[in-house]
Amino acid sequence: MSSTAVLHRAPARSASEQRTLVTNTILALLIAVAGLVAAGSSPLAVRADAGTARPAQAQPQAAAPDYATVARRSADLQAALLAEVAAQRGDALARDAQKVARASLSDAGTARQQQLTSAQAAVQAEAAKIAQQRLEAAVAARQAAVDAGLVTGATPDPTVDPTLSGSALQPVTGTSGSLPVGTRGTLPISTGVVGAKFGAVGSWATYHTGLDFRAAYGTPIHSVLAGVVVYAGNSGDWAGNHVAVRHADGRTTMYSHMSRMGVSTGDTVQTGQVIGYVGQTGRAFGAHLHFELYPQGVRFGDVYKAVDPTPFLRSVGVTTR
Ligand SMILES: [Zn+2]
Repeated sequence: MSSTAVLHRAPARSASEQRTLVTNTILALLIAVAGLVAAGSSPLAVRADAGTARPAQAQPQAAAPDYATVARRSADLQAALLAEVAAQRGDALARDAQKVARASLSDAGTARQQQLTSAQAAVQAEAAKIAQQRLEAAVAARQAAVDAGLVTGATPDPTVDPTLSGSALQPVTGTSGSLPVGTRGTLPISTGVVGAKFGAVGSWATYHTGLDFRAAYGTPIHSVLAGVVVYAGNSGDWAGNHVAVRHADGRTTMYSHMSRMGVSTGDTVQTGQVIGYVGQTGRAFGAHLHFELYPQGVRFGDVYKAVDPTPFLRSVGVTTR
């Protein structure tokens, strides 16, 4: 009897429990959607349902709290899961937004850089063109002045005998066209430090037409060799105050951008004699000596015919650094 009752009751209880489980599951889903607040009230609903389903039941109600607990835990878990999913989605969105922002910033930066680079190139090309035109005009003007005899002492005869100037030169060999064997020169700037070499590409010309000696403003400039000063003055162009000295072999050394000159056109100078002082007159960016060499038969100042002074200096025992 008792066993039958148990047997009969067992399915009844089982059905009730199953119903409760189904109810709880549905509730759990609802709670999961409703959130944690709703989850807090679910045990009450579960207990009320359990109470009405088994009004006269004397069985211990250990199972009911378990279901409620499971449901609550399930609800909590699902709510937590939903919250976690939402948080992850939020993080992902934030990451994407950051990525997009970074990408657009990067794109904008690259575009701006490209614009700047091309603008810079255009400006530089234009500046080089203008500088080239100015240089050509300056050379043409100087050439015209020399041809018209306006530049005193700048004789068009490259083989002129320096002794004709009236002063004795040491050493001088007249119009032989070569320096006496063993002729020794001096550095135009005693330290001999060269900044820009001949042929170096500059921003103002297609190539550098001389050697730039580094020197402080006012540093004495020496004539590399003895000779006659064929020009000492300022013709209003890139060279500023400059001195040109023609040597015994017909070559001319030219010293530009002087702050002041120490000789006059027609003077004769000895090797190492101070002919002027470092400055930045004419087209010069900072004080330095721009030193040029013109071969025999070439008028000084025709920068297109200037040659590298380094081998010449070496030939007279002068080494630069
Ligand atoms: Zn220079």
